[in-house]
Order: sequence, then structure tokens, then C-alpha cells
Amino acid sequence: MLLGPGTLVIGTLISSFLMAVVMFFQARSFPSGIRGLREWSLGCALIFLAALLNCLRDAVPDFMSIVFGSLAIEAGFALIYVGLRRFNDRNIPVRMLVTVLLLSLLTVAYFTHVEYSFRARVMLVPGVNALFFGMCLMTVLKGRPGHSLRFSDGFIALFFFVEVLISLLRVALAIWLEPSTDALPSTLIQRIYRADLAGYALGVLLMAVGLILMANDRLKEELQYLAAHDTLTGAFARRAFLDLAEREQARGQRSGQPMALLMLDLDHFKAINDSHGHQAGDRVLHKFAGIAQGCLRRQDIFGRYGGEEFIVLLPDTTRDTAMMVAKRICATVAKTSVLVAGRKPIQVSVSIGVVVGNDKTSLDRLIDLADQAMYRAKAAGRNRVEFAEVPEESVSDPAGSPVATG
Ligand code: GH3
Ligand code: MG
Ligand code: MG
Repeated sequence: MLLGPGTLVIGTLISSFLMAVVMFFQARSFPSGIRGLREWSLGCALIFLAALLNCLRDAVPDFMSIVFGSLAIEAGFALIYVGLRRFNDRNIPVRMLVTVLLLSLLTVAYFTHVEYSFRARVMLVPGVNALFFGMCLMTVLKGRPGHSLRFSDGFIALFFFVEVLISLLRVALAIWLEPSTDALPSTLIQRIYRADLAGYALGVLLMAVGLILMANDRLKEELQYLAAHDTLTGAFARRAFLDLAEREQARGQRSGQPMALLMLDLDHFKAINDSHGHQAGDRVLHKFAGIAQGCLRRQDIFGRYGGEEFIVLLPDTTRDTAMMVAKRICATVAKTSVLVAGRKPIQVSVSIGVVVGNDKTSLDRLIDLADQAMYRAKAAGRNRVEFAEVPEESVSDPAGSPVATG
């Protein structure tokens, strides 16, 4: 036979070892915000230990190879589950996991040392694994709060689903086995046992590939977020804002809906930095961003244009609505004081320029007009909103920059 049980156990041994090593280095190199990779690495290491104990079946006492071997494989999959929970920002049912593992350990020890039963053990261990695979499947399908599922989630969910079926099949086969199995394993049982081992070798590989895909997807997501957002305020970074605004403007031009733009600049912000310190200034920026975003709708785009200057795009918005939103931001900021430990409450205000464009006004022109209106608000005494009319001749050329006609 080309693939004897020994070869297949060695296959599991090699694949779980390699996967534990790959996972370990991935866990080390990934940002600490992406959690669960350490548990996955440790889980693969335990599966490796289980395969190793299986290889040493004749060389070590049954207590090591059977009792600890079974515990190692179950604990390995339990750790994969713990890693998934952490990865998806979910709580971990530690007590339940420990209870299942302890009960299983005692039962396997009983059927090894008190009343020897191969049949009982090959019923129990896959049964426990089926439970863990099912819990993994549910965790993947529930996903991360507030996030949708991706391809890698589908891949690993399918894997866990198949593993639940295979594990239950193992249990069913064990129930169906003759009680005489313990005395003399038949050829059929040997075949089943071999298929089982092959399944483990391939399963560990597929599982690790799925987990690595998930982790890489998450890393890509986090990097994209970091590139597009300002870390202090959570607002879109200037470049990302302009990209989104251009896309929104093209959509507005097709639908013929007006689009409003707000330019916001905190008043006397330098004085806040000077008298309260740069860190307090940062707190003010953070607080201001929270207030402004609280006044906006889901579809509005909020960006940090520069130091203490922010920009908002309101799709499908008329002059009245845009003015109302701007005045609400202005009033809310003015009546909020920012608390910084050991300092007097900090009062801050904002000046806002508003413009509403039609389908012919370019984005550059709108920004320019909103900026001018904002400076008029500054000149008029700050803590207020000014509106900019779009001059009739403002139309966009094919490249998108404003040109005057007539
Ligand atoms: P005005 O009312 O005319 O807008 O006056 P201002 O003091 O707000 O404007 P100015 O442009 O003179 O100062 C802006 C200050 O914002 C200067 C800069 O140090 C500060 N600033 C820019 N970015 C940050 C930041 O990320 N954190 C902090 N704490 N301060 C910042
Ligand atoms: Mg300012
Ligand atoms: Mg400024």
C-alpha cells in the first residue's frame, strides 16, 4: 500500500508543524490589533503534538500516546476556536471549554486504563471535535460585529462544515463497529482509520490556509483603513476624501441632484495649543470630529483637510438643509466644553463656509468657494456660518478645473 497509516500520520505531523511555524511568524509580524493568530499557531502546535504522540504509539506508554494524544488534538481545535473568537472580537467561553476538555480527558483515560475500549474512544474524540468545529463554524458565520463576511470567511466556513460532517461520520462509524474491534481490527477498520488519518493531514493544511487567508484579508482591510483615515480624528484623510468626493460628484452629475460642501476651521486654535498644550489641542480636535460626525448622515463624507480644517460633502443636499447642518455643527461645538485632566474646561468654536453646487460646478471650484465663505465667517467675527453663491459662469472643463465662459 502506497499510503500506509505511518505515512499519513507523518503527513499530519509535517503539515501541522509547518503550519504552526508559519502561523507563529505571521502572529509575530502582524499588528497587535489583529488578534487570535497566536492561538491558531498554538492550536496547530498541539495538533502536531497529537500526531507526534500517535507516531510514538509503540514507544511511549498508552497514557501518553492515547490519553494525552486525544487531549492534544481536542485542545488544538479548541484553541483554533478561541483564536477565531478573539479574531472576531467575541468573548471566550473559557469555563465551558475547560469542562468539555476535562470530561473528555477523564473519559478517554477511563476507556484506556480502566475498561479498555477502542470503540468508545473513537466515538468520543471525533464527537468532541465535531462540537468544536460546529462552534468554529458558528463563530465564522456570525462574523465580526459591524463587518460583512468575505471570501476567506466562506472558505473556512465551508471547511468547518465539512469537518463537522466528517467528524459525525466518524462517530457513526464507531457506533456501527463490532464490539470485537478492540480485539482484532479488521481490514475495513484499518481502511477507515487510514482515510481518517489522510483527512487529518489534508484538513490541517486546508484549515491553516483558510485561517491565513482570513488574517491576510483583515490585514489588507486595516491597511486600507489606515491609508484612508486620519488616526487622530477618524475622518477621511485629504486624498481619500477627494477621491470619494469626485466619485460622489460624478454620481450627482448623472442624477442632477445638488451637492453641498462645507469647509470648517476651528477658531483661534493656535491659542488653545499655546495655553493648554498640544495634547489638549489634539483632544479638542478629536472631540470636534465626534461632534461634527454626530450631526451628519451615513452617506455624508467627513474629511480632515489640513491641521484644524475639516471638509464635509453632503450628497443630494439643498442650500436650506446644508445651512441647517452647518448651523447645528456650529451651535453644538460652541456649547460643548472639552475636559482635559488637570485643566480648565476648554471652549472652542468653529467657522464654516457652505456652498451648494449644481451638475456643472467642479469640485475644485466648490472647495475654493466654500473656503472663501469660511474666511468671510472668520472676518465677520468667527463662530458662524456663511454661504457662498456659485457664480453663473462656473462650469467645469473636461479636465475638471473651472473655466469662465462668456
Ligand atoms: P483662526 O481662528 O483664524 O483659524 O486661527 P487659528 O489659530 O485657528 O489658525 P492658525 O492657522 O493660526 O493656527 C492653526 C493651528 O493649528 C496651528 C497648528 O499648530 C495647529 N494644529 C494643526 N494641526 C494640529 C494637530 O494635529 N494637533 C494640534 N494640537 N494642533 C494642530
Ligand atoms: Mg483655525
Ligand atoms: Mg486654519
